[in-house]
Formats: sequence, C-alpha cells, structure tokens
Amino acid sequence: MDKDYYKILGVQHNASPDQIKNAYRELALKFHPDRNKDKGAEEHFKQVNEAYAVLSDPEKRQQYDAYGPDAFSQRYTQEDIFRNFNIEDVLRQMGFQFGFGGNQDLFSMFGFGDQGASRNIDLGSDILAGTEVTLREAATGTEKKLHVNHVKRCETCSGSGGTGITKCKRCGGSGQARTTTRTPFGVMQVVTTCPECGGRGKTVEKVCRTCKGHGRVRTEDKIDFKIPQGVDNGTRLRVKGMGDYGADRTGDLYVDVKVSKDKIFTRQGNDLLLELHVPFYVAALGGTTTVETLDGNEHIKIEPGTQTGANIYLNNKGMPKFNGSGHGDEIVRIIVDTPKGLSAEQKALLERFSELDSGKKPDSKKKFGIF
Ligand SMILES: [Zn+2]
Ligand SMILES: [Zn+2]
Repeated sequence: MDKDYYKILGVQHNASPDQIKNAYRELALKFHPDRNKDKGAEEHFKQVNEAYAVLSDPEKRQQYDAYGPDAFSQRYTQEDIFRNFNIEDVLRQMGFQFGFGGNQDLFSMFGFGDQGASRNIDLGSDILAGTEVTLREAATGTEKKLHVNHVKRCETCSGSGGTGITKCKRCGGSGQARTTTRTPFGVMQVVTTCPECGGRGKTVEKVCRTCKGHGRVRTEDKIDFKIPQGVDNGTRLRVKGMGDYGADRTGDLYVDVKVSKDKIFTRQGNDLLLELHVPFYVAALGGTTTVETLDGNEHIKIEPGTQTGANIYLNNKGMPKFNGSGHGDEIVRIIVDTPKGLSAEQKALLERFSELDSGKKPDSKKKFGIF
C-alpha cells in the first residue's frame, strides 16, 4: 500500500502544521464513516487518520521524513503510529459535532481491541541516549558501543516478583480500590490504587530477592549500536524494545547522533563544501590540481579567469543520502590568494601587467591609482 502520508493528505513535504491540520479536517469530514457510506470510505478515513497521527506529531514526522515511507512502516507498528493520538479528541477539538459510535467503534476500526480496559496497563518508558561520530564515520556508517541504563525484566523470577503468587484478596486482581465519599454534591465514588497490592493485583508469598518483588531490575547494558550511513547532526535513531521494561510494552531506546566538525569539509545537507586556495596567476591562466574527497584524491581543472568564490561541483562525491540512494555533491569553492612580499622582479612584472591592463580598458568606470 502506498503510505506516502503527504500524498494521502494532499500536502507538500514542507507543509506547516496548520496546513496539515486543515487538509486533515477536510478529508476527515469527507470520509468519516458517519457521513460517507461509500465503499472504501472507511479505508480512506483510516489512512487519513494514520497520516495525520504521524504528520501532526513533530517527533513522528521527523522519523517519517528521515526513514521514508517504506522503512518507516517496517519499523513502526500501528500501535506506535497511533500512540498519543486520540481520534475522538482530535475530531472533537476540530469542532466535529456529529455522533460517534463511541470509542469502541473507532478503536475496533483501527484494530485495537478493548485490551486492558479494566486494569492498569504497564507501559515501559522510552529512554534517550546520545553518541558522537566523525563526518567520515557518518559517511560510511559505523558501529558504536553504547552504555544503556534501563529497567529490565528480572531473570530470577521471570518478572513475577516471587513465588506463591495469588490474586489480591482486597481488590480481586483489578489493582484498584473504590471508596465512597460523601461530599456537598452528593456521594462520590473514588477509584484509587489498591493499598494492599500497590496496583499489581496480586500478592506474593515469597518475594524474589533479586528484584525485591518488583519483577524488574535496573541494569546497565553495553550494546553494539549500528549507525547507518548518511546520518546528520541531530538525527534521532530508534532501537525498538531497548527502553524500560513493561509487562504490556517495553519502551524503546532513542539515540541522538552528533556528527563532529571535520577539519576540511563543511557539510551542507548532503553536500560537502571544501575551500581551495589558488594562486592568483593559476586563477587567471587556468590550471589543474588535486583535491581531497571522501574516497581519495580527485583531479580537477581550474578554468582560465576563475574568480574567488567560484564553485566547482564534483557530482556524487558528497555524503550518502540517509535511508535513500545516491550521494550529494562535493563543492570545491575557489579562494584566490593575493601574493604578499613581492620581490623587485615580481613587482616590476605586475607593474608592466598593470600598464597593459589599463591600456586594454580605456573606458573603465573605476580608476585605480598604484603605489
Ligand atoms: Zn489489590
Ligand atoms: Zn525477581
């Protein structure tokens, strides 16, 4: 299936959050199953919501832009995509007034059952780490050792917290306690975490010594982390399931990559800029030289009459594109050097040159005096 979210919403890649919101509102109105009974409308509605769930969230959008549609849908599950996205809330905030079949319908449409409706869902947190690579490592891709400090399931008790586990008598396994309170507005029922089991819904007879009954332990792990070629300064990469453990979902590890400055190349997107100092007579007469590229030296030609600031493009000699094919260019920027400390002979030659030059352009607008 074509998962180009920009195409689905009919917006440009550089669309602003407002443009995305407006496009979504229009399409959601058009395809909402309450209004549109056409065959395929429901599927359309789903796609529009999926696209909006990603493009309305800066972090998800950045990942989507970085990975592209194919790699993105391979890496992220539907649950990931719809995380923190409540369709009902979103539609209501946009002023949709018509009725819904309740959460249940929308949820089942998107393939999430009513899982966990009556108990606390145990979701592990995502965690963030950082690493630094050189520009050349970014160009080839590399592997880094990362120290990850995260919560893992306790191996000793397999996460159960101990032996002799029984359902909590007080809350009956729900992990919740209900108390009735009398207030000026009437009798209210308040739901709190069960004080007996701490919300876990069970009691443990013999507590596991390793995790002290928590079923999880904080550990530092060393992992080999693969950095794909083409990463840029600020690229955020994800390792699924390497965050904190949770019984329902283990969090992910995000790694922010810093690319250190290079001595000779300045990166401009996928292009690499290299400044080349050229003696003025080479710039005037033309010549050849070699310049450094990411994969060895390259022969270049300097045209006669080259000005300072002129660019010579070495096609496909720049950075490889992140999660794409092809490379940027290397841009060799010419800086014409003016000679200093001339000998008497050099000076005489330049004075002679000056005479010839002023004779050539008698109607030159600007006159220069010479020492
Ligand atoms: Zn309990
Ligand atoms: Zn344990």
